[in-house]
Amino acid sequence: MKIAILGGGISGCALARMLAADGHQVTVLERSERPGGLCKSRRYDDFTFDEAGGHIIFSKDQEVLDWQLDRCGGEAGTQRTERKTRIRWHDRWVPYPFENGVGHLTKEATVECMKGYIEAYVSRRMGEPCPENFGDWIQWRMGDGFARHFMVPYNEKIWKRDLTTMASAWVAGRVPEAPIEDILRSAIGVDTEGYTHQSVFWFPLRGGFEAMVAGTVDGGAFDLSCNVEVQRVERHADGFKVNGEPFDLVVNTVPLPQIEPAFQDIPDAIRGDIRALRPISLVNVMIGVKLDEPLPDLSWIYLPFPDQGPTNRATYYSNYSKFNAPEGHGCFLAEVTHRGDLRADDREWLQTVVDGLDRAGILRKEQVVLLEACNNEYAYIDQDLEFAARIARVRKWFDGSGYLTFGRFGRYEYHNSDQCVRRAMQVHQHIRELARSGDRAPLVLP
Ligand SMILES: Cc1cc2nc3c(=O)[nH]c(=O)nc-3n(C[C@H](O)[C@H](O)[C@H](O)COP(=O)(O)OP(=O)(O)OC[C@H]3O[C@@H](n4cnc5c(N)ncnc54)[C@H](O)[C@@H]3O)c2cc1C
Repeated sequence: MKIAILGGGISGCALARMLAADGHQVTVLERSERPGGLCKSRRYDDFTFDEAGGHIIFSKDQEVLDWQLDRCGGEAGTQRTERKTRIRWHDRWVPYPFENGVGHLTKEATVECMKGYIEAYVSRRMGEPCPENFGDWIQWRMGDGFARHFMVPYNEKIWKRDLTTMASAWVAGRVPEAPIEDILRSAIGVDTEGYTHQSVFWFPLRGGFEAMVAGTVDGGAFDLSCNVEVQRVERHADGFKVNGEPFDLVVNTVPLPQIEPAFQDIPDAIRGDIRALRPISLVNVMIGVKLDEPLPDLSWIYLPFPDQGPTNRATYYSNYSKFNAPEGHGCFLAEVTHRGDLRADDREWLQTVVDGLDRAGILRKEQVVLLEACNNEYAYIDQDLEFAARIARVRKWFDGSGYLTFGRFGRYEYHNSDQCVRRAMQVHQHIRELARSGDRAPLVLP
């Protein structure tokens, strides 16, 4: 088949590679000057940075993890790191997840957290139902102390909305419940791990996270058309047209609100739903520093409090690969979410980011030799209370339409790149079946 894939992020490029290996004629149409999307990286002199905040390669899915490492030259092309993350809790460095680090708080805070945790635990065991909004979910799941000391300030900083106006459904699969024994052990000072699936991660030695996309394109045997904005997608009796060119099949991975105007046959009600799918945006601040001693052995730090500046997470990015910074230097990424009201080129504001990191003890401002920033309009999904119903209607229409759509914002799934690759494998299977049988059955994704 002649297949058009809209968008050249990891979703589009991974699927293109799989389909081309089956002998299909595949074209990826990408608006930007090169592929990569949210996985892109950039260089300033001898510094390398990821554009959309700190990215790591990790997965619970061994087949996908192997696929991703292969694209980066395997173990030889990557650095393997044991995750060391902390929460900067006032003047303390508390291990993450916060529940597992509770013994590192002040004694009073530990007692408050444990009291609330046990009360919440008992209420759940007594049948207290899972709340539908995220604010109440935090209390239900973690209790009042954990909520006040970390979960609420941190989540308000990242989501920029009243947490009771957010849905809770999206956290269910993402935040595994730590065994109560682990929390009790942590409270008496015995460290426990938590989130073991992420305890080790990989990163490309050279080229930043984008190296994974470059390795997907290299030898991928598909056509990649960059600097091409998809403006018109039409359906005809015998196939489809994209920007006037005929194709047998169209697969979208572009953020739905960005591509909606191009599709000619979306019903008005579904268009309304798509337009209401708002993203949370992210300014990623890229900071190079001159070092007189190596950076501490840390991966990233969560910054929940306003006095630490606007950053919600700071990545010790040169710890991921020594090639990310020149000799004698190190580099950081500082992530700041927003709702369209920040400008990456506002130097005065960038300085407030550095000042906050200085106050938090992450870096010293006189060490900074490079300060740049990059805006990402589509970074996180705004999980308001209507989101689940709205996206269900949109996916239902697309899945029955003959077009296929997937990707972090192509399907509005809160997915990391490994899950995008898994989705590409599932869409690949669907297209194999379609090519074999000719039956345009609706797409069904687990
Ligand atoms: C802060 C942050 C941290 C993350 N950390 C990790 C991590 O540690 N590990 C991990 O695996 N994942 C991580 N992710 C997730 C990861 O970045 C995404 O899952 C993945 O990059 C999504 O890829 P995609 O191809 O679905 O979408 P995108 O990368 O958004 O690709 C969509 C593409 O469509 C193009 N496009 C837009 N409009 C048009 C048009 N009209 N015509 C043609 N092309 C168009 C865009 O230029 C873009 O290239 C993180 C994401 C964020 C925001």
